[in-house]
Amino acid sequence: GSEPSDQWREYRGAPTGTDRECRGWRQEAALRLLNNNLDPEVAEKPEELVVYGGTGRAARSWDAYDAICDELRDLGNDETLLVQSGKPVGRFKTHKRAPRVLIANSNLVGKWDDWEHFHELEAKGLIMYGQMTAGSWAYIGTQGIIQGTYETLAELANKNYPDSDGLRGKIVVTGGLGGMGGAQPLAVTMNHGVCIAAEVDATRIDRRIETGYCQAKTDDLDEAIERAEDAADAGEPYSVGVHMNAADMLEAMLDRGFVPHVVTDQTSAHDELEGYYPSGYTVAEADRLREEEPDRYVAESLATMDRHVDAILELQDQGAIAFEYGNNIRGQVAEHCDRENAFDYPGFVPAYIRPLFCRGKGPFRWVALSGDPTDIHRTDEAIKELFPEKGHLHRWIDLAQKQVEFQGLPARVCWLGYQTSEAPQETGSRTDGSDDASADDSGGLTERARFALRINELVAAGEISAPIVVTRDHLDAGSVASPNRETEAMADGSDAIADWPILNALLNCAAGADIVSVHDGGGVGIGNAIHANNHVVLDGSDLAAETARRVFTTDPGTGVIRHVDAGYEEALAEAQESAVHIPMESR
Ligand code: NAD
Repeated sequence: GSEPSDQWREYRGAPTGTDRECRGWRQEAALRLLNNNLDPEVAEKPEELVVYGGTGRAARSWDAYDAICDELRDLGNDETLLVQSGKPVGRFKTHKRAPRVLIANSNLVGKWDDWEHFHELEAKGLIMYGQMTAGSWAYIGTQGIIQGTYETLAELANKNYPDSDGLRGKIVVTGGLGGMGGAQPLAVTMNHGVCIAAEVDATRIDRRIETGYCQAKTDDLDEAIERAEDAADAGEPYSVGVHMNAADMLEAMLDRGFVPHVVTDQTSAHDELEGYYPSGYTVAEADRLREEEPDRYVAESLATMDRHVDAILELQDQGAIAFEYGNNIRGQVAEHCDRENAFDYPGFVPAYIRPLFCRGKGPFRWVALSGDPTDIHRTDEAIKELFPEKGHLHRWIDLAQKQVEFQGLPARVCWLGYQTSEAPQETGSRTDGSDDASADDSGGLTERARFALRINELVAAGEISAPIVVTRDHLDAGSVASPNRETEAMADGSDAIADWPILNALLNCAAGADIVSVHDGGGVGIGNAIHANNHVVLDGSDLAAETARRVFTTDPGTGVIRHVDAGYEEALAEAQESAVHIPMESR
C-alpha cells in the first residue's frame, strides 16, 4: 500500500516506556528506532517513508514497514531477521550473541552502480535508497548535525590556533543557513567565534534566529563586517546572517579588503537546479526562472558557483583558511566550468576530521528507549564523571543540554575514540557461566567501551529507566569509503577501495552488534560511497556488557587499522599506544 499504515498512524513516533512489545529489548530497540526515524518531529516526509537527505527511506513500502514491525515483535532471542533494501526477506535461527537484524540497502554490482540503474530497479519496487542513517534506523534529527559542525570548527581551531581559546577573536565567513548549514552560526559561537553567513532567503535567517541558531540579521554588509570586527576585538561570540548571495558577498569583501580568518560554504551547491541560487535574482525571481527556463537557471547557477569558488581561492591567497564543507562546490565547477584550480582548497575531512579518524575518533549517538529525557540527563552526568579530564567534551555536553532540543526519542551525540585506558577491565561481570575467556583479556578498554559499560551498569541498577541503544553515523573512522568526501585524498590513494567498510560490518557482526547494515550512496549519491552502521542495545545484562566491550573495540579499531594501512603516522601512534595488532606493520 502507498497509504501510511494503521500501525504507523497508531504510533506516530516510537513506542516509549518500560514495557516492551517484542520478545527481547534488542528487537524492541529495532522497533522503536524504526518508528523514531518516522516520527513526524524527526523525519522530513514520514507519510512517504522519507526520513531525510532527499529520498532516504526507512522502509521500502508501507506493506514492508508493517511486515518489519510484525517480524520484530515475533523475533526470537536466537533469531536474525534479514532486511534487503527496506523489505524483510528472511529470518533464520542463529544464536543469542548474533545480531538480531542485518540490513543491506541500495547496493548494486559495480558496473550497474549508478542512479540510472537504481531508478529502473526502484520503479520495479526492487530496491530502496537508504541514505546513511535513514535505512539503518539511526537518524535522530538536527542534533546530529550541530555537533559535527561544532567538532569540525573545534578541530580547525586546535590545528590553526593552538594557543587560542577555540575560535575566540576569529571571524568565520560562510554561506547557506538551510537545514544543515543553519547549524554553522551556533557551532561558531559555541566555539567562542564570530560568524558572518550569507543567505539569499531572508525567511531562513529568521528561522535560525527564532530557534536560537543565529543572533542577528542585516541587508547591509558594511554593518555586518563592522559588528563582527567589534565582537571579535572584544573576544565576544557573535553571529549575523547577511541577506545576500554568497558569491556576491565574498567578492564585496575582497573589494573592501576584508579578509576573514576562515572561509567556507554550505549552500546546496551539490544541486545546481534545485539547491543553489544564481546571483542577480531575488529568491522569488530565481524560483520563477527555474520554472520557466531551467537551462538558463542551471547556466547562471554554475556561473555564480564559478565566481564563488574563485572568491574563496582569492581569500585563501590573501590569508584566510579555506575548506569545502561537503557540498561538492569544487567538484561542480571543476566538472562544469572548466576550472582547473577548484581543488586548490581542501575538503573538511582531509583538513580536520581525518586526524580524528586516525585515532578511531568519530561521532556516535545514544538514544533513551524509555522516551524519558531524564535518562539522557543521567547519561550526560555519567560521561562527565567518566572522563573528568576532557574539558572539551564537558563543554559540549553542557552546551547541548542548554541549546539543543530533543526531537523524537531523547538522544545525545558525542565523539569518543579508540584510546584504551590503562586500567584493566573490571566493569561488567560474567555471572552467566560464560566460557568466553577472550572477552576479558583484550588489554584495556576503549573510550567508547568504557562509556557503554558504565551506561549498561546504570541500566542494570535501575538508575536509567529502560535500555539505552548506542549507534552512530555512517561517517565514522573505519566505516565508509566515499572518494569525494570521507576518503578524499587518502595518503596512499586508496580513496575508492570499499573493502574497509565491508570488513567493518562483517567484524561488527562477528563481535555481536545488535543491528548491522551496509549501504551504497549515502550523502553523495548512488555509486559514490559504500558505508556501514551498527547498534548495540545496553539493557543492563551481562550479554550486553560483553557485546559492548567487543563492538566498541572492533568498530573504532577498524578506523585505526584503515588509517595505519594508508600510512598515517597518527594512526600508527594510536595503534602502538593502544596495542592494536596489525599483522604486517613491523615488516
Ligand atoms: P538546504 O538546501 O536546506 O539549505 C541551503 C541554503 O543555501 C538555503 O537556505 C538557500 O537559500 C541557500 N543558498 C543557496 N544558494 C545560495 C547562494 N548562492 N547564496 C546564498 N545562499 C544560498 O541544504 P542543507 O541541508 O543546509 O545543506 C547544505 C549543503 O551542505 C548541501 O550541499 C549538503 O550536502 C552539504 N552538507 C554536507 C555536510 C557533510 O558533508 N557532512 C554536512 C552538512 C551539509
